[in-house]
Amino acid sequence: MNFKRYITSSPFDVNTYVFEMNGTLYVVDPGEGISQFVKDPVVVLITHGHCDHISGIPELQVKELFISPEDAHMLTDPAANLSLSFMDHPVVVELEWKDIDSGFKTLKVPGHTKGSRFIIFDGVVFTGDTVFSDTIGRIDLGGSEEDMKVTLSRIEEFFRNLPQEWIVCPGHGETTTVKDLLRRNPFLRRNVT
Ligand SMILES: [Zn+2]
Repeated sequence: MNFKRYITSSPFDVNTYVFEMNGTLYVVDPGEGISQFVKDPVVVLITHGHCDHISGIPELQVKELFISPEDAHMLTDPAANLSLSFMDHPVVVELEWKDIDSGFKTLKVPGHTKGSRFIIFDGVVFTGDTVFSDTIGRIDLGGSEEDMKVTLSRIEEFFRNLPQEWIVCPGHGETTTVKDLLRRNPFLRRNVT
């Protein structure tokens, strides 16, 4: 899959990914400023409900919006999506949403938020803020350390069973490959013997 990566939601520098599939334009985690790059109607996919990953939704012509049921309340709750704490204006997205698990291939990865998801396409995994190329996401922003521990062992197994050349697309920072992720990310190497 060919995708483009745009840096949005300054100063949070969120990776917003854009790709076309079967004639539909998809946007993963649209942050503020995405309308500079995307003008056409889109299907929006959200890895998790934090404000920096959803703040660009109101800028777009949204055909459909997919998010996990556990994080969906964050669309309309500026305290829960942390815009009240981290931004100078509340982020409220008053759109109908659909369950991302029924529309797409996902992996439930609670820890950074309760409803965090990997979104999986052929050759590409969007990991949100659960795992980055060389570290993992914070658990003190509405997440859970217990959940993250379980998630880390699950996703290590998940990545070991994927083709090693697949691309890993995190919510911040550089993209990587499954192979390099498993080699470089210290949080996914703890079980290596
Ligand atoms: Zn986040």
